[in-house]
Amino acid sequence: MTVTESAPRPTATFREGAFGPARELVCRECGTTRELGPHYACHECFGPLEIGYDFGTVTREQIEAGPANIWRYKALLPVPDDIESSPNLEPGFTRLLEAKNLAAQLGLTRLWVKDDSTNPTNSFKDRVVAIALSAARELDAKVFACPSTGNLANAVAAAGARAGIRTVVFIPSNLETPKQVNSAIYTENLVAVDGTYDDVNKLASEIAGEEDGWAFVNVNVRPFYAEGSKTLGYEIAEQLGWRLPDQIVIPVASGSQLTKVHKAFQELITLGLVEEKPYRIFGAQATGCSPVSAAFKSGHDVVRPVRPDTIAKSLAIGNPADGVYVLDIARQTGGTVEDVSDDEVRDAIVLLARTEGIFTETAGGTTVAVLKKLTETGQLDPTLETVVINTGHGLKTLDAVTDRVGARATIAPTYDAFVAAEIV
Ligand SMILES: *Cc1c(COP(=O)(O)O)cnc(C)c1O
Ligand SMILES: [Zn+2]
Repeated sequence: MTVTESAPRPTATFREGAFGPARELVCRECGTTRELGPHYACHECFGPLEIGYDFGTVTREQIEAGPANIWRYKALLPVPDDIESSPNLEPGFTRLLEAKNLAAQLGLTRLWVKDDSTNPTNSFKDRVVAIALSAARELDAKVFACPSTGNLANAVAAAGARAGIRTVVFIPSNLETPKQVNSAIYTENLVAVDGTYDDVNKLASEIAGEEDGWAFVNVNVRPFYAEGSKTLGYEIAEQLGWRLPDQIVIPVASGSQLTKVHKAFQELITLGLVEEKPYRIFGAQATGCSPVSAAFKSGHDVVRPVRPDTIAKSLAIGNPADGVYVLDIARQTGGTVEDVSDDEVRDAIVLLARTEGIFTETAGGTTVAVLKKLTETGQLDPTLETVVINTGHGLKTLDAVTDRVGARATIAPTYDAFVAAEIV
């Protein structure tokens, strides 16, 4: 094979095997490739780049012999083979719980909750951050940073602390107090920006362009970051006994997670790790920030940005980077994208807690509420096996339900008072 490209190959400066089976960056729009590195936009068409791989043979046995965290899938990720030896929070392999009570309540035959609230910083973001951290290390970044709607900042700050790398995290200043504290506890450098998430994101891109040595997990190392979401798809398939579900409901902020769960399912099929079968992917948004749902419903191929106004702040991205890909995947697989009101989100948080003992944040409330709506409107087939993803923990968004739940009665410490209160 002759190499015709005259440009130097910066990959040569990386450690041998730094990115495992990853070979190159590929433009999702025009297919142009370039070398692995801190790049996120195609130099031909400005389309988003994603990781291209050369997978060798990967077997179920090899994966099952791995650790009970995302590194069991390292043969499918852009990480070095010795990834387990670098300090990180070891996220993943969270529980997949059969939700019989919620299924009965909604009239579904078989329902599972993939509960990512049990990750180290209590959201699915620990998965994506672990991959971004590995890339940042291999790229010799000096600062580990992100613009965030909350959970990402928590995960970056914690992972950076453990890895001993300087962190700077940027959030919209109107974020819930628990999410601010959950970042500030791990880092001195929490920066609150007066603006929406989309303003924060723009600022981050500017800093990434001006400053050297900054790895913004979801900006200049986004192709690596995004691959972390694939592990959700791998785990669901493995935990179902190496099969794909029939239907899956996934929350949509930037749309990256939904896109990569689909990529994961496709890879598993291609590698022969699961049998090929049809599955439908549904996207969930809150009505107060539902640009993708709006585009889906009106049959548009473009996603028109909105200014978010919803309690589901972790999903409040008005200009979602992967919105158009979410539309494609929902349409291709026979799914839909649906949205629900803040009140429906609150009700669904309580519903999940009271049926399954799982306390989810507003993003999970959105997803469960959308599951309910999809079932009621007949968009989802109740006889098919369904998975719903809970992406974050309710303790981070307590305010959302403090008006909904509380003490049934306040009584004197006497048996008479208890009887008078008619609790049972
Ligand atoms: C970030 C986030 C999501 C969705 O993220 P995408 O940007 O769509 O990948 C979902 N749930 C929670 C709790 C999140 O923090
Ligand atoms: Zn391109």
